[in-house]
Amino acid sequence: MTARLLEGGPIAAEIRDAVAEDVASFIRTESRPPGLRVVIVGRDAPSMVYLERILRGCAKVGIDAGFVELEGEATEATVTGTIRALNDDPSVDGVIVQMPLPPTIRLRAVVDSIDPAKDIDGIHPLNAGLLRLGYEGFLPATAHAAVEILRRSGIEIEGRNAVVIGRSPVVGMPAAFLLVREDATVTVCHSRTTDLAAHVANADIVVVAVGRPGLITGSMLKPGAVVVDVGINLVEGRLVGDVDFASAVEVASAITPVPGGVGPLTNALLLSHLVRAAQRQADDQPVSSRGV
Ligand code: NAD
Repeated sequence: MTARLLEGGPIAAEIRDAVAEDVASFIRTESRPPGLRVVIVGRDAPSMVYLERILRGCAKVGIDAGFVELEGEATEATVTGTIRALNDDPSVDGVIVQMPLPPTIRLRAVVDSIDPAKDIDGIHPLNAGLLRLGYEGFLPATAHAAVEILRRSGIEIEGRNAVVIGRSPVVGMPAAFLLVREDATVTVCHSRTTDLAAHVANADIVVVAVGRPGLITGSMLKPGAVVVDVGINLVEGRLVGDVDFASAVEVASAITPVPGGVGPLTNALLLSHLVRAAQRQADDQPVSSRGV
């Protein structure tokens, strides 16, 4: 068997087209573009490439996006004060903070300082709690992309055994909660899981978000499994995921490539979250107004 490729690019293009229409209609009614600010504390080359790509994507659909750059030695109070000023700025609808933060700055303090209504990457505890309870808040874009690529590719999720590998608050855990919401039976594996292979062997859907190239190989997969590879690793100058693609593609029924799978969808979904944040703030809707 050679697996079907679940490519993120065409789905991302569809989402961006819809976002561009929503941006145009927002500008007509509000007489301003939706605004995104990315707070950067010190310049870090790999994530700058990613963030610059997001900004270019924003410009293409008419979103007013820009960096707020703080020096690497900025204090926690400066960072949280900058975020609060963006919370109070009516021309800014969404705020993202570059991760990782310098070790002197507490992640929790920064996360707490973001207005949940502008938290378009779903890192604030209110948005995490809304997801946990099954209400609509802002989802972490990568976790959203990992599940959205399945939904939009017509992969059946309901009733299937899904194994999520990785339990981070921004990828693994929200992906697991989203799969539960889609009626999968979900197992979360992590660095202390004793027999990862046994869990993977039983999985109809495997979502891998670890950051270890080659962690999952074809021989570990149940024949016909669907594989979503969230990992991004640089190996000998090449981007690879956490799944050994060459062996997995022979056993899986569908698999996301790296690059070109979850990544493009993540960026497009982030823009759609921003437009939703802008519309909701313009309509004065609280972040949790609609249940799912
Ligand atoms: P993280 O380091 O916060 O979490 C890694 C998780 O993997 C942890 O929960 C840990 O318990 C688990 N883990 C570590 N070793 C393991 C092992 N041997 N077996 C099973 N589980 C193990 O990382 P993260 O922020 O969740 O990101 C995970 C990966 O996703 C990284 O490669 C990152 O670059 C990538 N990522 C991709 C996108 C995208 O858009 N595609 C976005 C964000 C992150």
